[in-house]
Amino acid sequence: MKHDIFLDDVIRKIPNFPKPGILFYDITGILINPPAFSYCINKMISLYKKTDIDSIAAIESRGFVFAAPLAEALGLPLVLIRKKGKLPGKTFSASYALEYGTAEIEVHQDDIKKGQKLLVVDDLIATGGTLNATKNIIERAGASVTEFFGIVGLPFLNYKDKLGDTPVTTLIEYFS
Ligand code: AMP
Repeated sequence: MKHDIFLDDVIRKIPNFPKPGILFYDITGILINPPAFSYCINKMISLYKKTDIDSIAAIESRGFVFAAPLAEALGLPLVLIRKKGKLPGKTFSASYALEYGTAEIEVHQDDIKKGQKLLVVDDLIATGGTLNATKNIIERAGASVTEFFGIVGLPFLNYKDKLGDTPVTTLIEYFS
């Protein structure tokens, strides 16, 4: 495990949720602990305040919680990546495989400009399927992803295989 005793203490681990065999890492323990939440947002600010990004893309829904304070602190636009059917304007969308079935995400076409560099933020990176689909719609808009960020990473699910050369940063990693 990446050494972060503080975060490990507040992330609840729930076996067999939402399905048998899945160990669920519950970040709501961070949100109800103000020092832990500040710790995460401050780390994110120090990681990205000097980087060359134009905009932050946040994944519905727990990604919103971490991306919004970061975007506000850095004075950058916040682009919402939403589940299909939630955005009222013209969208780009992508389907991707889940463990069972498929999911579809969308982004407003007008929210991303050609040539922009985006940081993509989610709460947890598991297989990387959601982030890969996000990259796909960002690239369709003519922009690019400079980095993926998650509070928690589960590298044993091999997200790097899906995410190619794009850097991935997490604050804490678990190996089972
Ligand atoms: P993936 O597309 O496989 O990387 O899954 C990422 C999304 O699923 C993230 O937005 C997480 O919130 C959620 N997720 C997947 N696996 C877990 C897990 N073991 N614990 C908590 N959340 C998870």
